[in-house]
Amino acid sequence: MSVRPILTEPNKILRQVSRTVEKVTLDEKKLMDDMLDTMYAANGIGLAAIQIGVPKRIIVMDISKDPNKKDPRYFVNPIIKNKDSKKATYEEGCLSVPNQFAEIDRPSKCDVEYLDYNGNKQLLKADGLLATCIQHEMDHLEGILFIDYLSKLKKSMILKKLSKSKSNTAVL
Ligand code: ZN
Repeated sequence: MSVRPILTEPNKILRQVSRTVEKVTLDEKKLMDDMLDTMYAANGIGLAAIQIGVPKRIIVMDISKDPNKKDPRYFVNPIIKNKDSKKATYEEGCLSVPNQFAEIDRPSKCDVEYLDYNGNKQLLKADGLLATCIQHEMDHLEGILFIDYLSKLKKSMILKKLSKSKSNTAVL
């Protein structure tokens, strides 16, 4: 298991559509282990494989607030089966959009079908933060970031800030 670098916007790779996983093999399990380590190291609650540059439809999440009671979740090839018409608003952030936050409306509940760590089919009925988080992570699989839901002006301000902080960073 190892911590991998997280790609940040602007980066074309983040805009790629991820590929369906044909089978959950040892490679996918190793990837999920690395993703979880990377997510915990960055204090995130969710991470999609594309955020570490791997275009596979894989997500890891842990929305438990207690660091002593870890509750990792793994989603391979997630598909939304049902969405509630009612919306919920959360202030979202993203490990690929560092230090930027914005309120985003999403369906308050959703049912998600996916394969788990062992490749078994599962159905999750999600609401609250869990529903928001899974939808945010699933957007990554389509190359969508939460800032895409903001007004053009707000989005361009955020992108400007991110580009600026990037050019001032020496990656050694
Ligand atoms: Zn994100």
